[in-house]
Amino acid sequence: MTRALRLRLKATRGLRFRLTASYALFFAVLLIAVAAVFRASLVSALDTHVHEVLNQEWAALKGGYLRIEPSGELGKNASNWYYDETDPDETAIVLDLKKIYMITDQNGNLIQDAKTKEPEYSTTYDEIGIDPPTLIRERVRQALAAMKPGTPGKTFWDVRPDSKGEPYLIRAGIVFDEGHLSPGEHLPYYVAIGFPLSGNAKILRRFTWIYIAVIPGALILSSLLGWIMAGRALTPVVAVAQAAQRISGSNLSLRIPTRQAGDELDYLVHTFNRMIERLESSFQQMKQFSADVSHELRTPITAIRGQLEVALFTAKTTEQYREAMFNALQDIDRLSQIVRALLLLSQAESGQLALQKSRLNLCEVARDLVEQFQIPAEAAGVRLTADLPAECSVNGDRVQIERMISNLLSNALKFTPPGGQVWVRLKSSPERVEIVVEDTGRGIATEYLPHIFDRFYRVPGSGTAPDPEQGLGLGLSFVAWIVKAHRGKIEVDSTPGAGTRFTIKLPADGVGSDTMELTGQPATLA
Ligand code: ADP
Repeated sequence: MTRALRLRLKATRGLRFRLTASYALFFAVLLIAVAAVFRASLVSALDTHVHEVLNQEWAALKGGYLRIEPSGELGKNASNWYYDETDPDETAIVLDLKKIYMITDQNGNLIQDAKTKEPEYSTTYDEIGIDPPTLIRERVRQALAAMKPGTPGKTFWDVRPDSKGEPYLIRAGIVFDEGHLSPGEHLPYYVAIGFPLSGNAKILRRFTWIYIAVIPGALILSSLLGWIMAGRALTPVVAVAQAAQRISGSNLSLRIPTRQAGDELDYLVHTFNRMIERLESSFQQMKQFSADVSHELRTPITAIRGQLEVALFTAKTTEQYREAMFNALQDIDRLSQIVRALLLLSQAESGQLALQKSRLNLCEVARDLVEQFQIPAEAAGVRLTADLPAECSVNGDRVQIERMISNLLSNALKFTPPGGQVWVRLKSSPERVEIVVEDTGRGIATEYLPHIFDRFYRVPGSGTAPDPEQGLGLGLSFVAWIVKAHRGKIEVDSTPGAGTRFTIKLPADGVGSDTMELTGQPATLA
């Protein structure tokens, strides 16, 4: 494909081109529709006008200009035109009338003018064609039949061309003579008058041509306007795209400026900025996570290295070697524990750890766990009690639910001094199951509460020395993930020095999450 062709394709596929094309198309359709409507009303107005002119001429004719009466000279009825020849208006009216007209008796015979003795018809009418006697007789019959007092007389309208093909509108009807030849009786006479339609056709033609001439100009002008308008509307889009291009992984703190216009584009920019915000926070978390991981791994590795160096350079007896090996092994244990936990957590969060859900009796699970934890509880000098209903079923993954309760229980025992107490309580309702693990331990200060579900987070003061007793700071992250994966919520209440209460709400078996109305801070994974 040549470069020019590619550029042309690009231009015709562009939004600006398409907007302009749609605008021009719409405008063209509108222009044509307006023209059609306007032309139709013009045709109707011109038609009405011609009918009115003929009606007025007819009224003038019947009103006194024409009288059919006996003519002594001719010995029969003849037409007389009565008007003041010195009055230019009257003369003009009668001359206009006599341009296209014919008058016959009821049998279709042309009658004569009393003065000129000429048959009463105009040459133009002759060109259109004098009405045949059969038609006249039929029309006179119809007009007489339709005559009723109080109703308008019957009128006949025709459009007929002359010898050159020019159309005329003809109005025909009957008039009565003055009745002198046949006293007491008024004979009907047939009169037809016409008006040329060529003037109307000319007006219409001129209108059509003017319109046809105007359309391309209007279209070009509107396309130009559309092109400029589309360009102006799209300029901010290009600006947004350029601003977005400047944002990369290393400068995610950049934001696209909004134009404060409150329009769709601002909404788009706002949405885009929110997306970058989320990306930035994910990036931040990833960075934090890798920093945390390397820190967590470095501590036991340094310890192992130290112990092995000490053993290598200073140990003399087998006992000293054994001790160094033992310590190194302990640290290796801790390392593999961290790696295992991290692997599990990352699998969980990336969706690779599929839940094996089944219907399970949570009370039974909790009872078993409380029993298992009795030995470590006794060792820690803590009283562990359970308050469980007989049956409460949830749809869950047994292994993960057990892990969730175990984590909470081991934390409670770990952070409760001897003489303290730990409770496991379960409440079940048709909608949800509530698990509470409460202790009388050292509690967590309010400022640390929002972070306890973060990975590697340990409340400061809980010891940073790498001793095996110390947790990895991953347990609650796992709990939060398990709760979330079961469409539940977790809340924590704690009073420093008095104790901590974790409350987990899970939908009961057969209840969808959307039917649960839960309050409190939702569980979030770091
Ligand atoms: P760890 O493995 O260190 O226990 P967790 O993620 O389970 O990590 O817990 C994070 C931190 O939250 C703990 O280091 C501890 O400071 C605090 N914590 C958790 N449970 C309790 C509790 N029951 N009482 C007091 N502090 C707690």
